Parts: sequence; C-alpha cells; structure tokens
Amino acid sequence: SREALSAYAMQPSLSRDGREIKLMANIEFLEELDLADRIGIDGVGLYRSEFLFLNCKEIPDEEMQYRCYASIVRRLRGKPVTMRLLDIGGDKACMYRQATSRDYSGSNPVLGLRGIRLLLRSPRLLTTQLRAMLRAGEEGPLHILVPMVTCCEEMIEVRKLAEQLHHDMNLHQPLSIGAIIEVPAAALVADALAEISDFFSIGTNDLVQYTLAADRSDEEVASLYQPSHPAIKQLIYQTAVAAKKAGIPLSVCGELAASPEWTSTFLNLDMHALSMSLNNILPIRRHLSKQDYKPAIPPAF
Ligand code: PEP
Ligand code: MG
Repeated sequence: SREALSAYAMQPSLSRDGREIKLMANIEFLEELDLADRIGIDGVGLYRSEFLFLNCKEIPDEEMQYRCYASIVRRLRGKPVTMRLLDIGGDKACMYRQATSRDYSGSNPVLGLRGIRLLLRSPRLLTTQLRAMLRAGEEGPLHILVPMVTCCEEMIEVRKLAEQLHHDMNLHQPLSIGAIIEVPAAALVADALAEISDFFSIGTNDLVQYTLAADRSDEEVASLYQPSHPAIKQLIYQTAVAAKKAGIPLSVCGELAASPEWTSTFLNLDMHALSMSLNNILPIRRHLSKQDYKPAIPPAF
C-alpha cells in the first residue's frame, strides 16, 4: 500500500539509503509560495522572471524589479532562490519593442532572438535586471540563471557585466551566476561552460525540443517529443560529468525533474537539486525515499 503523501510534508528529501537531493519549486509569482509552507521545500530552483514583465504595461524599472525579487528572497527566509533572467519567447513579440525599441518578428521565434541572445543586444534591459537581482541578493542567497545559452562567449559576456556591476555596487554577498543547459550545443560544450559558470541547471523542456527537433507546443509532433530518446540521457549524462569534473552544483528544472521514471537516474548522477511545480514535490519526495543510490559517474573523473 502506498503511504499517504501527507506523511512526506515538511520532511527532508532523502533516498532510502539516506542520500539527499534538494527538492525545490518552480514559481512565477510570490503568492505560489503559500502552498510551499505546507509542503516544505528547500528553496526555489527556478523563478521565471518574464511573468513580472508580462504583467506590466511598461518594462518595470530597477526599483520595481528589486522590490519584487527582494520580496521573494525575504519570503524564503534564508533558503536559496535561483532567478532566471528574462526569457522572452518569440511569441511575445510586443515585448521586443519595449525592450529594444525596435520590432522583431523572426521567421522561427523558437530559434530566434530569445533569452540571453536578446539580453546581450539590449544592454540597458540586461543591466537593469542584473542590478535589481544583485541588490535582492543582499537579502538572502540568490543565484542568477542565464537562459538559452548556446556558447561560452554568451556566458563570458554576461558574466563580465555581472562582475563589473557587482564590483561597482559594493555588495557584501558573493555573485553566483550559472547557465541553463537547454540547447544541445550547451550540453556538448558543458566542459568549457562549467569553467565559467558557478552552477548548471538543466532545462529539459527545451532540451528535449531542440534535441529532437520537435516543437514542444505543436500537438502534431507531440509523439516525437520523447524524453526517453537515448539522446536526452546522453546529453544529461555529459552535462553531469562536466559539472562534477568542474566541481559545480547541477540541478534539473524542466518537467523531467518531476518524472518518477527519472528520479533514480538523477539521484545516481549526483544532482544537487530537482526543481518542479509545487504539486509534484510530495510525490517525488515519496518516490525518492524508495530508491537507493548507485553512483553512475566513475570516480576517475
Ligand atoms: C526548460 O526549458 O526546461 C525550462 C525549465 O524553462 P521553460 O520551460 O521556461 O522554457
Ligand atoms: Mg527553457
């Protein structure tokens, strides 16, 4: 018989043999954290900042962004939050004008100017958001996550800017900035990316889409959108080995983090955290408690 999920509320997240994986929440709004108080979470593993922007008529200024980010950090009372920089998908065309003062309509928005690509072309937007996040980081542990990274140059550029701002602002808390691994190219150069990232988080929603060339929102190819394709496991494995070699923490923040079929794989690949929507946390905590740790990465690394 399956134990009641409620038995797993407010408990640590441990495998049967006592190995911990942090279970964190993916959130878009502060209010979602009310539920977290009844479940018990180890932090927020993915805050999708675009929702603040989508709810505003104008691009929110630094002060407004700061207030929003700081309220989330304070609400977590010392638990960490990973905040993702703006990832405007191509479908939010109206935002390009606001952000960059020009129109944009790529022929294929999913492969177009989104995530860090757009931010690096809009220095004011990027600088404002980095400053607001860095300031919020003085209130508690905050990690900055860079979306849609495909090459080291992008990470080097955003990191350089973040370091410069961090230095100029005379902050007390250290800078932590990492890459989301959600494009196959990023997984394939994970070794090099790990050298310039403080952490990795694997975004499986886009990683599956781009690896299998199957649009995640197109029902006609839904049957081809198969996380069980061996290419996905190969890319995740490669990323895990690279993170381990460089000694940086690795998490998963896409939907696969909440898939019980993947829990033991993630446990065995030494994932630091799995981040998912709040309603999946108790089922995964229960499932994890039935697994035993069998290291999948040879110690030679
Ligand atoms: C992902 O791509 O897996 C991810 C976590 O981000 P989003 O779903 O917001 O693209
Ligand atoms: Mg994504």
